[in-house]
Order: sequence, then C-alpha cells, then structure tokens
Amino acid sequence: MRLSKYFLPILRDNPKEAEIVSHRLMLRAGMIRQEASGIYAWLPLGFRVLKKIEQIVREEMDRAGAIELLMPTLQLADLWRETGRYDAYGPEMLRITDRHKRELLYGPTNEDMITEIFRASVRSYRELPKILYHIQWKFRDEQRPRFGVMRGREFLMKDAYSFDVDEAGAKLSYNRMFVSYLRIFARMGLKAIPMRAETGPIGGDHSHEFIILAETGESGVFINKDVLDLPIPDETIDYGGDLTPIIKQWTSLYAATEDVHDAARFEAETPEDKRVNTRGIEVGQVFYFGDKYSKPMKSLITGPDGVDRPFEGGSYGVGVSRLLGAIIEASHDDKGIIWPESVAPFHVGLANLKVGDAATDAACEKIYAALTKAKVEVLYDDSDDRPGGKFAKLDLIGLPYQIIVGPKGLAEDQIEVKTRATGAREVLTLDGVIARFAG
Ligand code: ATP
Ligand code: MG
Repeated sequence: MRLSKYFLPILRDNPKEAEIVSHRLMLRAGMIRQEASGIYAWLPLGFRVLKKIEQIVREEMDRAGAIELLMPTLQLADLWRETGRYDAYGPEMLRITDRHKRELLYGPTNEDMITEIFRASVRSYRELPKILYHIQWKFRDEQRPRFGVMRGREFLMKDAYSFDVDEAGAKLSYNRMFVSYLRIFARMGLKAIPMRAETGPIGGDHSHEFIILAETGESGVFINKDVLDLPIPDETIDYGGDLTPIIKQWTSLYAATEDVHDAARFEAETPEDKRVNTRGIEVGQVFYFGDKYSKPMKSLITGPDGVDRPFEGGSYGVGVSRLLGAIIEASHDDKGIIWPESVAPFHVGLANLKVGDAATDAACEKIYAALTKAKVEVLYDDSDDRPGGKFAKLDLIGLPYQIIVGPKGLAEDQIEVKTRATGAREVLTLDGVIARFAG
C-alpha cells in the first residue's frame, strides 16, 4: 500500500478525551473514530488489525472443532421472553420496535438464539457434541462506555456455544474451549491468565475469565506469579485427546478475580514471594451453564438410554475489538504502538527519505514491487513528509519493521532496517533487504 493513496488520518495532538494509552494511540494512529459514545468507526489501519485478530480467533476455534455460522444482530424479544431474560436484562439491552410494532433487540449475546436454532433440528445424542460459534457485533448500552474500544457499547465478539448430552460431555467441551483460548491469546503475544470467576446462579467451579495483567484494567486480580510462566500447548494439540493435564496445570496455581477471591486460601496456597495483587483486562470468558437455556426453551436430546433431557451447554466469549486495546496496553512505548507480528496491520513500513530523488525512488519502487510480489504486507511512505515526520509516524503506528531508504546510504548501497520492538538497526544492501523480507 502506498501511503499517498491510503487513508491514514494521523492526529498530531494528544486527544484530550482519551484516559488510557491504548485509546490515545488508537486515535492518534488513525485506527478508529468515535461516532457516538462507545460507538466507533474502524478506519483502514484499525480495521486491518481487527481482521487479523478475528482470523486468529477463527483459526483456533476451527482447530478446536468448533463450527462457524453467523447469527443476526437483531433478535426478537419473544425469543428472550422464553428464557425470562427479556425482563431480567435491564437497561443494558437496546430495545427496538419495527414498523409493525414488533419488539426487537440488538443482541448483547446469543444463548437464546443459538438454542432456538439448535432445538429446531438436533434431537439425538448421536449428533453431539457440537460447538457452534460466530463473530458478530454486539450492543450493550454500558453505563460507562470508556477507554475507547475497551468498553464500547457496540463491540465485536466471538461467541461460541457448546451442546452436550450430559455434564461430563459439557466439561470436555469446556476444556476444549479453555485450551483453545490459551492458544488464541498467546498467538497475539499476550499472556492471558485463566482466573476463577463468578459463575452466577449455576454455581460450581466452571467459569474462567481470561485476563491480561495491566494497571489500567478494570478487574482486581490475585495470582501466583508462576502462572505467568506456564507453557502454551502448540498447534499439534489433539482436541480429541485428554486435555485434563493442561487444565490441571493451569488451574492448580492460585488465580482469581476479586469477585471470587478468598484471601485465606490465597495465603495458604501461595508462598509470600509469589503473591501478586494487581489489575487486569478481561479478554475472554468461558462458562458452563448446564440446562439454563435448554430447559426453559425445551431443547431436548434423546440420550443413549432413550430418555429425553435438556442438553448441557456452555458459552465462550472473546472480546475481539477489546483485544486491540488490550494488545496496545501490553505492547507500546513512549513513541507509539509496538504490534506483535501476528496482528500488525502491515509487516513492514518503507520510508523514502527523499521523494523525487531518482535513485531513492527507484530503490524504493524495487523493494516495494519485490515485497508486494512476495505477498509481504508493506506500507510505503511515498509522501513528501520530512524524514523526522516519517520516522515518528512509523514509530507511532508500530509496524514490526522499518526499511529506511535515503540518498546518502544508497550511494554506498546501504539501507537501514529497524526492528520496532527492540530499536535494533542493521544495515543491508538493496538486494539484502529484498532477500531478507521477500526471500
Ligand atoms: P465486562 O465484565 O468487562 O463487562 P462481561 O463479563 O460482561 O464483560 P462477557 O459477557 O463475558 O462480558 O463477554 C465476552 C467478552 O466480550 C468479554 O470477555 C470482553 O472481552 C468482551 N466485552 C464485554 N463487554 C464489552 C464491551 N462493553 N466492550 C468491548 N468488549 C466487551
Ligand atoms: Mg465476562
């Protein structure tokens, strides 16, 4: 992409309304624009990152055997009346009336709808287990939308739903989602810690929130810091196999949100020098809820014994749009964002320090063509901005690598390559640069 043809509305000044660094950087880097409180337009640079995050989530859901579909954003109120949730949900739900005076709502979540879809066709235990998911916009009329995309009103969520014939099966599904969450966040360069969380009226030990440690987080958390060093299962993980050793490993060290924190247990289980009490950002939650929806909605499964029973379910959310903020909170410096390669909007920025100089233009064009041909995502700054402005811009938007081409170096066949994360610089020849990135 040539910057001269792109749409990258960078802000020079720090936006006053942004209280935390990720919000500030997303606005400054021209990634999002607020259209109403908690409602954002995704500008091209932000949209590219959103799509990358979404794709990682999708790949890991698919790997774990979940099946993608797409449900609508608007839902009928009557569906939610079946489970009693229409009245229970309160002012966070955006309620809409259509021209025929039918009551609708903009979905804050989809348990009711997926149960309706499921019950229409699945009756036998032979068709189970199943995990269905979608990646769709949600609306929650949050009391305090803030921190940009971190707590929006309209936000993108991946929500998966599992269907099993009994509790033992439901726990296997839960474990599959748990393990896939470990992989999802690790692939984005994040250390997300599964923490025991509030289970609501169902009780039991079966909800975990996945939380990134950050001072700006909204949840208070207590952990044994050794949990930060646990290994992440690699991509050869067999989701059909026994996942309990992984679950045990990740749940035996103390890690809990303040809602369920038990100080006595924390102290008993955790050596003093390992105790950490800090704050964190919730990026996902897994939840086992049994027959909470299948029972009132009469979604019955005939078991191997010939007896009908409501399916056992769980739901599993990932805050796809919140993740942009969370990743930036975890990865930035005073100059700007530092994108992990897996989610970076472009892999490399190419800075032409003297647009109009024949040799510099030719070298940049050659690099740009070679990288483009090799399908390396490159943002070519061919604008007539001054070098200082180009460096600042590239640092701000945080692409993993910068290729810096100026007439002085070129005269000696020298091109500088900077790694954004470390600041390390190396000098390569023109052919060396091409071999390095497009080889
Ligand atoms: P929170 O406690 O932060 O309000 P929640 O527990 O109500 O979130 P869930 O129903 O568990 O949210 O939704 C799944 C995921 O969706 C959350 O883990 C979070 O990452 C994301 N999410 C929830 N609410 C918002 C929001 N208002 N803006 C952006 N992402 C959100
Ligand atoms: Mg939650």
